[in-house]
Amino acid sequence: MSKVLEDVLAANAAYAQGFDQGDLAMPPARQFAILTCMDARLDPAKYAGLAEGDAHVIRNAGGRASNDAIRSLVISYKLLGTREWFVIHHTNCGMETFTDEVMRGLLASSLKTASVDASGWHDSGEGPGSTEGNYIDWLTIKDNAQSVVEDVTRIRQHPLVPKSIPIYGYIYDVKSGELVEIPEATAAGRPG
Ligand SMILES: [Zn+2]
Repeated sequence: MSKVLEDVLAANAAYAQGFDQGDLAMPPARQFAILTCMDARLDPAKYAGLAEGDAHVIRNAGGRASNDAIRSLVISYKLLGTREWFVIHHTNCGMETFTDEVMRGLLASSLKTASVDASGWHDSGEGPGSTEGNYIDWLTIKDNAQSVVEDVTRIRQHPLVPKSIPIYGYIYDVKSGELVEIPEATAAGRPG
């Protein structure tokens, strides 16, 4: 058994031992949802003060408003009653460090983990890789604040999203732990 697998199962056994949250309702008690990045430094339960059962947290690379993120948000309000949404990107996001072209090139070269230095990403070059990456939009980020504005705007304008849901745009600062509002995004997400 790998060390990680062993540690996770041990942690879970301890967690289940003291578990007393078995009677929570399925709909989020505080009726809101957060779309945010999968970055390991972000803990939405801590940075936004969530307890089990409080809110939906949808995560992907970048916290981007991908079709799948929108699928989750639509389920979140339509079936589970959330009424306010946050889009929260963050400083120092890995999605700012590459482009579609770079990612596609790395994957075409090999499936090994790439390395990064001051000059950018480099592949170890032990192929084979795959050109399947050419068919994926990696939703990379050029400008952090702009990406929040774009994602809030996309969600706001989506035909399956009701105009009544306010969408707030923020950037989480990985140095200070603070949520910093992007006013242009929140304005774009104002309910209509
Ligand atoms: Zn990120």
